[in-house]
Amino acid sequence: MAIPTTTTTRLYTYFFGEAEADKTLFGNKGANLITMTRLGLPVPPGFAVSIDAFRRYREMGGLPLKEIEEALGRLEAQTGKVLGKGLMVSVRSSAPVSMPGMMDTVLNVSSREEVLSSVEKILNSWDTPRAVEYRRLHSISADLGTAAIIQAMVMGNLNQRSGTGVVFTRNPVTGVPELYGEYIPQAQGDDLVSGQKTPQKVDALREQLPQAYEELVRIGRKLETHFKDMQDIEFTVEDGQLYMLQTRSGKRSGQAAIKIAVDMVKEGVLSKEEALLRITPDDLNALLHRRLESTESYAPVAHGLNAAPGAASGKVVFSPEEAVVWAKKGERVILVRPETSPDDIQGIAVAEGVLTSRGGLTSHAAIVTRAMGKPSVCGCEAIHVDLARNQFEVGGQVVKKGDTVTIDGSAGNVYLGQLPLVKSEITPEFTELMTWADQSARLQVWANADTPELIAEARRSGAKGIGLCRTERMFNAPDRLIAIRQFILADSAEARAEALKRLKELQKKDFVAIFKALKGMPIIIRLLDMPLHEFLPQGEVTEPAIRQKLQDLREVNPMLGHRGVRLAVTYPELYRMQLEAIHEALQQEPADVSVMVPQVITVKELQWVKKMLPDPCLKLGIMVETVRACMRADNLAKEADFFSFGTNDLTQATLSFSREDAEKKFLTTYLEAGVLQDNPFEVIDVKGMGRLMETAVVWARKETPRLSIGVCGEHAGDPRSIRLFHRIGVDYVSCSPARLPVARLAAAQAAAEEKGKEKGKG
Ligand code: PEP
Ligand code: MG
Repeated sequence: MAIPTTTTTRLYTYFFGEAEADKTLFGNKGANLITMTRLGLPVPPGFAVSIDAFRRYREMGGLPLKEIEEALGRLEAQTGKVLGKGLMVSVRSSAPVSMPGMMDTVLNVSSREEVLSSVEKILNSWDTPRAVEYRRLHSISADLGTAAIIQAMVMGNLNQRSGTGVVFTRNPVTGVPELYGEYIPQAQGDDLVSGQKTPQKVDALREQLPQAYEELVRIGRKLETHFKDMQDIEFTVEDGQLYMLQTRSGKRSGQAAIKIAVDMVKEGVLSKEEALLRITPDDLNALLHRRLESTESYAPVAHGLNAAPGAASGKVVFSPEEAVVWAKKGERVILVRPETSPDDIQGIAVAEGVLTSRGGLTSHAAIVTRAMGKPSVCGCEAIHVDLARNQFEVGGQVVKKGDTVTIDGSAGNVYLGQLPLVKSEITPEFTELMTWADQSARLQVWANADTPELIAEARRSGAKGIGLCRTERMFNAPDRLIAIRQFILADSAEARAEALKRLKELQKKDFVAIFKALKGMPIIIRLLDMPLHEFLPQGEVTEPAIRQKLQDLREVNPMLGHRGVRLAVTYPELYRMQLEAIHEALQQEPADVSVMVPQVITVKELQWVKKMLPDPCLKLGIMVETVRACMRADNLAKEADFFSFGTNDLTQATLSFSREDAEKKFLTTYLEAGVLQDNPFEVIDVKGMGRLMETAVVWARKETPRLSIGVCGEHAGDPRSIRLFHRIGVDYVSCSPARLPVARLAAAQAAAEEKGKEKGKG
């Protein structure tokens, strides 16, 4: 059935020169053809059958036949040729989102009947199984629909002064401003797509038809200025005359994305804010971490979670001890474990990367490797680790200790053998872009670091300070473990005092080294926050005294148990020892030091610790990581010198999800079933916890308007969470050094988006 139309009211067909470039009505391809025509560029004439027609077609089953036939008549008049006798058209789909290769294209169409059936074919191709599957995979709404573009064909195979090609207006690998692409003389577009003829570099066009080449360069510049972006162009030359068939924003590597954005600011095409908004975290990660030279050429044997970005190859080892021994011999190793624990830390430190079969994106392995800037693939269930036999099995293959594997922590893939890797490369454009980011951002970006090495890395990565120095890691090295165990197991006041003295000396030494590494940066040191039983040996314990102590200290739920400031209330000497160690280290190595107290619920706890300060000038703040601290933010703000949200524990407390267990037990199912959109330990729960944080900020600032407020949980490195922190007025975020560049970019983007919105309102 045809939809009736008259010659005076055209509802569904639009000639390129007469319409507005509306993507929702004509799709990307159609809108860009309209733009090019309106810019006066040489586009073969044609018209679009709009997405409204698609909707009518789906609902009522008919095409606007009369309108299309009239439009074809106009096209014949415009070209001076008759359909079937000299005039041929192409009929192509055009959706508002890119669905490459998913829908049909019909070329060389030369009769009215064929045009109409081709339009139907195009509109029907929206619902082919592959298109439906593509939309499902990319979360594209089925309601968007497609337009059909009917355009006079030009012949790239007409004669020796003809050809066809695809070019990028800048090099999509490096970003260098040059025409980059392929050209085939005497050929049609489908020869290029089908691979039947071997394309040459576009320089071949310069030699064959210099004028057409120069015009292509000129048009490329014009399109870039108009669209404010690098373009990917399809063109045909017919008897020396250049025609534009399509233009769209070109896909590019991370390096190219950054260079193009920075160059376009210098060329006056983009503002600095626009350039910052163009860059994605993936662009930065691609530049900052080693990666596979090519992902297409190799098939992964298993896929897990992309827990920490970058790629690494090495020999497989199954224990941290073995990792250390092999690394000492100069071997590159990949540590493979079912999951990791604090006992594995030395092995992780020397490994090139880590692969685990269990655990999620906030598992121990994921958090530690991200902090260290090492690639890791976690929760890779397809591999079956057999620690007793020193091997893992994957898809029927056995990988033994010493075999080489490659992991890609950016994609979560595991490969057998050594794959070629590309080194990371800091370009001058990257440095410049990050300077702009820091100038635009309101949120400062600090780093979490607890060793001089990590502090140095944080400084190199642009940290403005150290926002979280966890002191419990200082107790974990073998010589310190002996001392803290002596403290825990002491059976007399003297033995305890002796152990504390030893611990103070060790801590003081560590603090002096840390203060030296700061080179002027401020630091916030967090007092001990670890349940004491974690310092005792785990597993089979034969020593009766230790067995008894372990039994005494055992807790059903240690993360909600005897940790944080609660330790200071029951064992005041521990925090006193730490504060004295800081104070004495400061005498030796002056630095800008603040101290914070973890797990606070009441102002009384803070006052309790305040009394222990050896120097009243030492700034004392709190970690806001309990719900009660948020609800008492006004009162706490009177007593605390600063706040730092510990969003890891606060998420645990707000959702009543155990950090340790949630991912292993139910979170994956929650995410798969769509009960939750994101893992709340990774991306802040804006609607729930975001509100709680905002309330705390408002109440605290009502009491102390200039109170410094930061965030130091894992979310401090997550771009979406950073947008929330910016909005609610947090002053700084403190994240792992490896996440600094992405956090600095996100902080700048949050400010740029806000500025854009304000402009919009004005
Ligand atoms: C937090 O809870 O967010 C935090 C930074 O502390 P930790 O992860 O050490 O408990
Ligand atoms: Mg915490």
